[in-house]
Amino acid sequence: MSNQIKTNCILIKKQPYTESSVLMQVFSDTLGMTSVLAKGIRKTNEHKDFLLNVLNEYELVLSQPSQSGIHILKEFTLISEYPTDLPLATWFTVQAGAEMISKLILPVDEIPQFYLGISQYLNYQKTVKTNAIAIFWRFLLHIYKLLGIPINLSNCSNCQKSIEKASGYAPDTGQLLCNKCLKELPESFVFSPEAGYIISILPVIGNYLNDLEIQKETIAQVNNFFLRYISLQFHKEIKLNSLQFFLSE
Ligand SMILES: [Zn+2]
Repeated sequence: MSNQIKTNCILIKKQPYTESSVLMQVFSDTLGMTSVLAKGIRKTNEHKDFLLNVLNEYELVLSQPSQSGIHILKEFTLISEYPTDLPLATWFTVQAGAEMISKLILPVDEIPQFYLGISQYLNYQKTVKTNAIAIFWRFLLHIYKLLGIPINLSNCSNCQKSIEKASGYAPDTGQLLCNKCLKELPESFVFSPEAGYIISILPVIGNYLNDLEIQKETIAQVNNFFLRYISLQFHKEIKLNSLQFFLSE
C-alpha cells in the first residue's frame, strides 16, 4: 500500500490512449493537475469506461508516477456525479472553470484551497438557471485573488481614484481605468455600458442573475478582459477553448 496514493479528484479531461486504456487529466486535492492512465478500462469484459466521466468527483487509488509522470489507476470510487443535463451555455461555462484550473501551476500547499474553489464553483453552477457565465467571472475573481493577482474593481489603476462603474482598462496592465484616464490613454479598451455595469457588480452578481440578459458582445468583452489580465500577469497567453462556445452563433 505504501507505493500507492489515495486522493480525491475532479476528472477534468479524458481521452482514449490505447485500444483498451484511457488517459485522464484530473485535478487532485493533494497532487494538483495530474495525468492518470486507466489501463484495461475499455476492455469489453471490464467495461468500466462509462463510469469515469468529466467533472465527476472520485476517490482514486494511484500508483506512484512513472518516469513520464503518469500515475496508473488502481481503483476508483465515485464521490459525486456531475449532472449532464445542464443547459449548453452552463455546461461550457463549467468546463471553462475546469480548464482554467488545469492551466495553473500551483505550489503544493496551495492546492487544497484551489480544490475547494473549483468544487464550490461546480456545485454552485448546478443550481444556476441563467447567466452561468457571470458566475464564471465571479469564480475568476476568486481564483485571481487566491493566485495573489487580485483584480482591483474599486480604483483606477492609473490615478487611484475610486471607480463607481468600470469604463475600460489599460492595454499594458489589463487593470481598470477611470473615465478620465481612459480618455487620456488612447490605446485603452473601452467597455460597453453593459460590460462596465456587470464588472462593477460582479462581487455580488448572484443577487442579479435572474434580472440580467447578458448580450453576446458583453460576454466577449468581459471574457477578453479576464483573459488578458491573467495573460499579462503570467507573461503567457492563457486561452480557454470552452469559451469559444460564446463566439459561435
Ligand atoms: Zn484614473
